[in-house]
Amino acid sequence: MLLRQTLLFLSRRKELEEFLKHNPLARQASSRFVAGETREQALAVTHQLNQEGFKVTLDYLGEEVADAGQAAAATEEYAGAVEEAAARGLDAGVSVKLSHLGVRIDETLAFGNLLQVVQRAARVNRFVRVDMEGSELTAATLKLVRRVHSESANVGVAIQSYLRRSTAEVDLLNREKISVRLVKGAYLEPEEVAYQDLEEVVLHFMGLLESLFRDGHRPAVATHDEKLIEYAIDMAFIFNRGEEDYEFQMLYGIRRDLQERLKRDGHRVRVYLPYGTDWYGYFMRRLAERPANLWFLLRNLGK
Ligand SMILES: Cc1cc2nc3c(=O)[nH]c(=O)nc-3n(C[C@H](O)[C@H](O)[C@H](O)COP(=O)(O)OP(=O)(O)OC[C@H]3O[C@@H](n4cnc5c(N)ncnc54)[C@H](O)[C@@H]3O)c2cc1C
Repeated sequence: MLLRQTLLFLSRRKELEEFLKHNPLARQASSRFVAGETREQALAVTHQLNQEGFKVTLDYLGEEVADAGQAAAATEEYAGAVEEAAARGLDAGVSVKLSHLGVRIDETLAFGNLLQVVQRAARVNRFVRVDMEGSELTAATLKLVRRVHSESANVGVAIQSYLRRSTAEVDLLNREKISVRLVKGAYLEPEEVAYQDLEEVVLHFMGLLESLFRDGHRPAVATHDEKLIEYAIDMAFIFNRGEEDYEFQMLYGIRRDLQERLKRDGHRVRVYLPYGTDWYGYFMRRLAERPANLWFLLRNLGK
């Protein structure tokens, strides 16, 4: 627990970011979770995954931009990537972070950027998922997703089961037919807003799954936790959901065996595929989830 907290704290430290981003061995270690530095590399991996029967959501790495120019560049990359994927006939949407689209600078700016990505994706019949970041952005994220959804329905949002507020949010999103991707949550959060005990996070996840399979619109179950996946399959059966009506989502480079097994059993599986040079924050969150990954990094650095 302490190690997780330390790694999540370090995920926001610029000095360590500068050191690791320029270290070839750290870059090599991060490549386990990242498809490549360029859009071209990401689309090549997407093609391969589609051939194997997986769907993809592309994540252009980056968060917390400092100015409107960087937010505009990120907007163009997200929209361009989804357009190019569609033009190549690939089965891929995009996952975006609002801090990458400038929400910390100005909500109106982020709203315009998100709307642009969603509308351009709609023209090529693709879906946009808004990732959920730290809890200080939860309210703004939900507000902007609702506003954009009222103009273009091809947008959904991630909800974190560690947040206490998520039961009420899921009820509301279900009523508004906004698709939810359910995750446990990957950020450092205080006790007032988030369950700290993993058992509570899992129990809350189960309750939210039930609500999503009973009342939700096209739920996405995003976990590598086999017990929760079994529970989701039970919920799909109980609430009579066809395979087309929900999906499992997993991260690139994690539990390939499980992704394969679910796909073989006839489930829809979407791989979350990050690309780009700004991999530090994403990589540190993956280390925090499984500190065993840290030894892999340290071994590499020590070579
Ligand atoms: C598609 C997708 C999208 C996500 N989007 C968001 C988001 O928008 N916001 C957010 O806060 N979080 C997001 N997450 C991350 C999520 O919140 C969890 O931190 C992450 O999924 C780990 O939790 P778990 O449910 O997989 O279960 P865990 O109990 O952590 O893991 C179950 C098993 O999976 C394997 N595993 C899990 N993580 C790793 C890892 N890093 N390295 C190696 N093996 C691992 C291990 O075998 C582990 O025993 C997303 C996750 C997925 C799969």
